[in-house]
Amino acid sequence: MAFENRGVNVGNREIPLSVPNLGEDIVSNLKECVETGWVSTGGRFIEQFEKDFASYVNVPSAVSLQSGTSGLHLALKVLRIGEGDGVIVPTLTFIATVNPLSYVGAVPFFMDCDDTFCMDMEKLERFLKEECSSAMIHKVTGVHIKAIMPVHIFGNLCDMEKLMDLADKYGLNVIEDATECLGSYYLEGKYKGRYGGTVGDIGVYSFNANKIITTGGGGMAVAKDKGLLEKIRYLSITAKDDPVYFVHNEAGFNYRMLNIQAALGVSQLKDLETFIKAKESNFRRYEELLSSADGLYLLPFRGDIRANYWFYSLYVDKEECGVSRDELMKHLLGSGIQCRPVWRLCHKQKPYEGFTSYMIEKALDYEANVLNIPCSTNITFDEISLVCDEIMKGLEK
Ligand SMILES: *Cc1c(COP(=O)(O)O)cnc(C)c1O
Repeated sequence: MAFENRGVNVGNREIPLSVPNLGEDIVSNLKECVETGWVSTGGRFIEQFEKDFASYVNVPSAVSLQSGTSGLHLALKVLRIGEGDGVIVPTLTFIATVNPLSYVGAVPFFMDCDDTFCMDMEKLERFLKEECSSAMIHKVTGVHIKAIMPVHIFGNLCDMEKLMDLADKYGLNVIEDATECLGSYYLEGKYKGRYGGTVGDIGVYSFNANKIITTGGGGMAVAKDKGLLEKIRYLSITAKDDPVYFVHNEAGFNYRMLNIQAALGVSQLKDLETFIKAKESNFRRYEELLSSADGLYLLPFRGDIRANYWFYSLYVDKEECGVSRDELMKHLLGSGIQCRPVWRLCHKQKPYEGFTSYMIEKALDYEANVLNIPCSTNITFDEISLVCDEIMKGLEK
């Protein structure tokens, strides 16, 4: 494995936030694609990647796609969630979770997060019980709520046991945005051994460049119901009903993964467990080096899951450490250390301002005080020490 490969950052003192770690066999895989001409939406790597992926997350089959976003879009399509239908989403997530709702005309309802960054289950339960009728009509807006879209933020996992109970009780579909949690699974409870993304009706993964494994860009869908999954596959390849005469009985999409993307995926998936080990030991290293700093702490991953430790979140408590998150961020950026605040909350983003949000509190605190710090799998212990030294210097300012 070429752990030294830092892409654009080779030889640069800058420490990137999160960059790909590409194995050597990718070059030979890509060479094969080019030499055989299989560079597009067919080829052996696509089939192999889907097979390897399904076997990794322990499901019968998976469908590869152009992106996580396209997977979420198709998930809504095949569950027939469309114009005017309500979908419950967290506000603390990347906007790509919510955008597919606008593609189909669905209506987002924004929920708060809890200490795990994921959707707050108590508030979700209260919302369903108190704000909606038993037929799942939201009392204030009259919108019929049809689904919940939990997001497994930064590799932590949502409390799917509680969420599935609520979904069953109220007859709601569940689409898991599993784009950040590949490799995370439950160690306890009803879903012990189950990977994030494989519990709800449909789960969607992403292989965007900063995710734990990458295909440049790409996504994967899994589903409990084989018919639904095959419908996703069908819609992703222009809903072609006859390959000879090109008969299409529905308006499909061009969302299929390319063989050259899958050529990366096959290699990356082989390295995934190694990446997770690196992510975890780097996280522990940061924890150790930052343990003496008052008012600074790394937000922990749940203890009852095997997490993939994808993204590291530093909570900056200004009262205690004397420096705000933004001041610390400026200091680090000035020292060549890439870092960034957690996303602007979705319910405040321009396209979604007018929609309902419910008791958002914790997410506001995280939005204001959390800094994401370098977490590439190929970061060295020396670089982590350097980042921590700069963090300490930033506190003295
Ligand atoms: C990356 C990501 C997506 C979108 O995945 P793409 O492959 O970039 O389309 C969606 N939701 C979350 C939470 C993500 O982090």
